[in-house]
Amino acid sequence: MAQQTPMMKQYLEIKAQYKDAFLFFRLGDFYEMFFEDAKLAARELEITLTGRGQGEDRIPMCGVPYHSADQYMSRLIEKGYKIAICEQVEDPKQAKGVVKREVVKLLTPGTVMNGNGIKEKENNYLVALTHFKDGSYGLARTDLTTGECAVTVASELEEAIQDIASSGAKELVVASDLDEKVIVQIQEKKALTLSIEDELILNEEYASLCKELKSDKLIDSFSRLLNYLIRTQKRSLSHLQEVTYYSTDSFMKMDTHTKRNLELTESLREKKKAGSLLAVVDQTVTAMGGRLVKNWLERPLIHKEVIEDRLEMVTSLLQSYFEREELRDELRHVYDLERLAGRIAYGSVNARELVQLKRSLQRIPSIKQLIQAIAPIFGERWFKEDAFIDELVDLLEHSLLEDPPISVTDGGMIRAGFHEELDTYRDASKNGKQWIAELERKEREATGVKSLKIGFNKVFGYYIEVTRANLHLLPEGRYERKQTLTNAERYVTPELKEKEALILEAEEKMEQLEYDLFVTVRDETKQYLASIQELAHAISEIDVLAGFASVSEQRHYVRPTFSNEREIEIVGGRHPVVETVIAKGQYVANDVQMTKGREMLLITGPNMAGKSTYMRQLALLAVMAQIGCYVPAESAELPIFDQVFTRIGAADDLASGQSTFMVEMLETRYALKKATENSLILLDEIGRGTSTYDGMALAQAIIEYIHNHVRAKTLFSTHYHELTELEGMLEDLKNVHVAAVEEHGSVVFLHKVVDGQADRSYGIYVAELAELPKEVTDRAEALLEQFESSQATIKGVKQHNEIREKATPIEQLSLFEEEGPAVVTKEKKKSVGTLEREEKVIKKLVQKDVLNMTPIEAIQFVNELQRLLK
Ligand code: ADP
Ligand code: MG
Repeated sequence: MAQQTPMMKQYLEIKAQYKDAFLFFRLGDFYEMFFEDAKLAARELEITLTGRGQGEDRIPMCGVPYHSADQYMSRLIEKGYKIAICEQVEDPKQAKGVVKREVVKLLTPGTVMNGNGIKEKENNYLVALTHFKDGSYGLARTDLTTGECAVTVASELEEAIQDIASSGAKELVVASDLDEKVIVQIQEKKALTLSIEDELILNEEYASLCKELKSDKLIDSFSRLLNYLIRTQKRSLSHLQEVTYYSTDSFMKMDTHTKRNLELTESLREKKKAGSLLAVVDQTVTAMGGRLVKNWLERPLIHKEVIEDRLEMVTSLLQSYFEREELRDELRHVYDLERLAGRIAYGSVNARELVQLKRSLQRIPSIKQLIQAIAPIFGERWFKEDAFIDELVDLLEHSLLEDPPISVTDGGMIRAGFHEELDTYRDASKNGKQWIAELERKEREATGVKSLKIGFNKVFGYYIEVTRANLHLLPEGRYERKQTLTNAERYVTPELKEKEALILEAEEKMEQLEYDLFVTVRDETKQYLASIQELAHAISEIDVLAGFASVSEQRHYVRPTFSNEREIEIVGGRHPVVETVIAKGQYVANDVQMTKGREMLLITGPNMAGKSTYMRQLALLAVMAQIGCYVPAESAELPIFDQVFTRIGAADDLASGQSTFMVEMLETRYALKKATENSLILLDEIGRGTSTYDGMALAQAIIEYIHNHVRAKTLFSTHYHELTELEGMLEDLKNVHVAAVEEHGSVVFLHKVVDGQADRSYGIYVAELAELPKEVTDRAEALLEQFESSQATIKGVKQHNEIREKATPIEQLSLFEEEGPAVVTKEKKKSVGTLEREEKVIKKLVQKDVLNMTPIEAIQFVNELQRLLK
């Protein structure tokens, strides 16, 4: 490259320190980017790529205007990029040579304080991962917008990854020498922006945050996070809250797979809150409550006292309808105290937000009173130290006007009577203006020009204006001429100039003084940070629990009880989400009985009968109970589960694109390894992803293993009828099935789960429903009869092999077992193709490795088959 200009040299020097970030390089009114940064930014932001310089030396460049830069920045951050903002740090007019520039702020997905990336009802966590020599991993996380900090140690990588994924973090801070493989494994589960921090020495200034941490590992883990923040934020972090230790063992464990499948916080298909359990149980009215209920769902409790404590409050709230509704009305007026606290600490809070803080605080006394009326013990716990409220409200009340502007530099924020000097300036300005009004009146009288007026503009200041038609009325030399307009002349007098100087000086001083006073108030507010944060915690808990009470009442939930004998006894249980989406009264409630001798239930029944719904219903009830919410049932007794595992047979998971049998088996292995007798395992059509007898054999082996070794409560749904014979072989396994009746040649699903095994699998009806050629379904019926008469059982290996080839056609039909109406009629379209063509189709169908197809390939394949038949 040819000779660099001094500015380019400066650019490259700074860029070298921020290789993994876009460098927003301030040039006058623009932030410019160069080289690769420019190319990438132009693409990501859809802005024009230009260049600087000529010919071969032309450098790619693009820029965004300074005043609208925020929106571009948040778009890049949302896409997971980092941005180093490089400002001119000296006045260009006084600079010798190139203006001095410095990076003043590093924006990253895990550290942004506002913008589109910050969702009101979601935390924005930044996580630091530290690998220790003994193979354990330290995890420290913070949400900078609220100041929450927490650490833990995971004994192995898998556990650490689960924790990172469940925090929803967008950015991960690691050591520069962390093993590549670890990073790859993490990124597989969750795409994250990576950042490096190697410094592990605890900064003294923040040492008090760690006073409760008992081990060096925890302190090191937090220090990595803290040092990263100090290095990148370059400003006060005084709102960071004392670091809390959490143990991954104090919560019900669910891996990401399980959470996703249970649709705890987002729906499987659309990845939206609607259709998730969260959407049902989140009836919060504050942003803080919204974040907390999501956190609770991610981490249900396992300590009975804590769960009962929450349930107790829900019960109290439920019994006091009027107080509860009044309470919720009050809560609606409470702003996001946690994030306000963050902005106070960062010094980015404005006067309007401080007024929001005041208004929120003014609600607290009545909230406290209501809570005390509802349940006195909770009132005492949540509002222990609230003396600060009066003090702070007083300060804000006396200092700030009710409706201040967002800008903090234009005045209009401080109340009269707060500061004497400010009042003097205000008087001066007001008196001056009065004097001018008086002057206008006097001059009109003296000159007889009724239309004479005194005006003001920024360039000329105050002036006396007389229209051209009236000029002849002015005595010669009365005023000094200042400006000539087409229709009028403008004048000044020495007196007017003098008053003007006074007024303008007062106003300028007023603005400066108002700003200074505002900053004092803001700083004074800082000393209340910890109390505000504590209050925020109380408010968010109250909000969540009041929401639980509210949903429990609306949907007729009951308070769950907990069994010490590991027994499940649910009467009239409902799936909390499905019951809300189907027509009112249509949901068929089901019992679950898993007592002695019924540790495992093997669920059979036709497709679309409700097997998956039944299984998930149990897990969701357990989760709801363990976050302290009532549950949808007539009565529910449950054990406290330490872990829940949900595994779905690969064929059901086609949509996600990762439907390999290997994944199914890996996930199952994890469940078998980790589950204890206090866990709940749901295995939904496991073994489906391979050929029939492979699948069946594996399914049986897995069931036996759980039955004999793991002893976890297990629901196993299957379309392999043969497995129902296991009831006779395994003491603690019972068959249940979803009832269906055949009426006039159609199958009606009752969605009712009853003891015993299903008569048959009805798979062929579903194939008919999918309008497969009649020859196919007729042939399948015939084959089925053959299989059934040959008494294929899971015990006879030899028989399996014989049947294996014959079995293939039916098994492959599972591709078409997708969703359809719950009633299957036997009326079919007449097929028009010749036998030959149809045989070709069948052959193709049989040979296809369906489970290794992407959904698109499957559609294309079906299309091709259809073409062959037309
Ligand atoms: P399976 O797993 O047996 O194929 P699903 O559990 O997926 O069946 O249920 C299929 C559909 O049947 C669900 O989407 C739901 O609309 C309906 N369904 C399931 N269980 C019930 C029930 N208890 N009451 C009413 N409708 C139900
Ligand atoms: Mg299912």
